[in-house]
Amino acid sequence: MPTPTGSVTVSAPGKINVCFLVGPLLSSGYHRVASVYQAVSLLEHVTATATDEPGIGLSVEFTPGSVLAARARRRADSGIDLLAAIPRDATNLAARAAALVLAASDWDGGVHLHLSKAVPVAGGMGGGSADAAAALVACDALFGTALGSRELARLGEQLGADVPFALLGGVAVGLGTGTELTPALAPVPFHWVLVPADFGISTPRAFAALDEHRRAVTGGAGPDRIPVPAAPADVLHALRAGDPQGLAAVLHNDLQEPALGLAPQLRPVLAEGLAAGALAGIVSGSGPTLALLCLDEDDAEAVATSLGHRGIDAVPVTGPVTGTQILSRTSG
Ligand code: ATP
Repeated sequence: MPTPTGSVTVSAPGKINVCFLVGPLLSSGYHRVASVYQAVSLLEHVTATATDEPGIGLSVEFTPGSVLAARARRRADSGIDLLAAIPRDATNLAARAAALVLAASDWDGGVHLHLSKAVPVAGGMGGGSADAAAALVACDALFGTALGSRELARLGEQLGADVPFALLGGVAVGLGTGTELTPALAPVPFHWVLVPADFGISTPRAFAALDEHRRAVTGGAGPDRIPVPAAPADVLHALRAGDPQGLAAVLHNDLQEPALGLAPQLRPVLAEGLAAGALAGIVSGSGPTLALLCLDEDDAEAVATSLGHRGIDAVPVTGPVTGTQILSRTSG
């Protein structure tokens, strides 16, 4: 392998689960799911730079001009550092991804990762997973390991259930724990408005709340007895047909009620989104980001503007978009 020099910058998308069905709880602590992922045009960027010093360095910013950056500036005025929620040590998913590729390389130096984040942190959009996917691809290109998409997906799966999808992008059905991906067709873009919350929801807490609810309603029967969910044909049909009204009618997330139970302040925001003209709204993944589906681009702009006038941060996005992409490479 040649000696790594310079930097590689890679983008990776955040995701919405347009349908998320949660099946039985496994002994591993994960659940079997049937998820329909859609990658959306809110991107993380990771720049990997080779360093002579061994080890993995990390720096993080909110992408200049993003809603996250604007919110961080406002919070900084009250002495709150929103970047502090992102781990800077070896537990960061991007650092863990880089460690896996370093181990597969013969490079005895290190790497510095710079993360530019636009996907809400702990927001249910797989931002950390997108960073991990981007770091896998950036380090693979930098170190010349040429691991190939199947091996990168295998490494990604070790880091988190959403990492393989961030590598792939587009629309895909995820079975198993979400990592057994089958690409699906969605030839026409859908228009969404994302409403990031100014707090996070822990994904394990949302799943635990769902399991608790299921124990209560089944009179104690375990969450491990829930049937294995199948890919939802009606959702895939609406995506293939490019039919936003059809999709609005079948959006579904089993984690929505648990997330709204943990964060009831999201209910009126969902209602405001519908009042502003969205076709339907859903909690994204484990929340708290809300995804409002709109008829077309003009409606999405109007919904975002209307929410903005009410003091609610709202970002129009489209999906599907591609997965990880190498954007630039500098030598030395
Ligand atoms: P999930 O993929 O579990 O649904 P999420 O999309 O809700 O996660 P993330 O932004 O990925 O949320 O972060 C979840 C947690 O992971 C954070 O609270 C943070 O402690 C940790 N974390 C690790 N690496 C990162 C990273 N690169 N960016 C953000 N958070 C990270």
